[in-house]
Amino acid sequence: MKNVYLSIGSNINNPIKQIINAIINIKNIPYSKIIDISTIYYSKPYKSIKKQKNYLNAVILIKTKLNPYKILHYINKIEEKQGRIRTKFKWDSRSIDIDIILFENFTINNKKLTIPHYDMKNRSFVITPILEINSNIKTPEGESIYLISKKLSKKNIYPYFCLLKNNYFK
Ligand code: ATP
Ligand code: CA
Ligand code: CA
Repeated sequence: MKNVYLSIGSNINNPIKQIINAIINIKNIPYSKIIDISTIYYSKPYKSIKKQKNYLNAVILIKTKLNPYKILHYINKIEEKQGRIRTKFKWDSRSIDIDIILFENFTINNKKLTIPHYDMKNRSFVITPILEINSNIKTPEGESIYLISKKLSKKNIYPYFCLLKNNYFK
């Protein structure tokens, strides 16, 4: 089974509910199981042309037997089920966004899929929760995510709440 780090984010339609529902929906992806869930962070919009509400973000570690394209298929289905609407504006408000950040040590770069996520190194709302789950993690090129995190400002993210780490989601 392969380790996959997924990031989830929401800033509209009841973000707490969206985050919990995304976790439940991710738990139901076949041939996969949830290994760990980071703290849920409250963060300022990262990039946006329009003014928009603050976000909740988290990272989830799963183990899966599926390939990256199947995982992309399932996360797109979850986004659709949770009412994600893509507008003409990139980085517009969203009920839920789920990105594949790392997929084992795979490197993929084509029209459909880029792994690792092309902008992970610049996003403290992705890097900080990953490190919470695995402080020794490296990119496929062997770059330490801990060292990447040291270069990032943490000004725009705040720990918001933590789900009880019982077996409920596992
Ligand atoms: P960003 O990609 O900058 O985080 P976004 O998440 O808002 O912005 P989306 O509109 O959700 O962008 O995604 C656009 C497309 O990116 C999706 O249709 C998907 O096929 C593609 N994509 C490429 N690589 C990935 C990845 N690693 N995880 C999720 N989607 C990806
Ligand atoms: Ca995204
Ligand atoms: Ca996305």
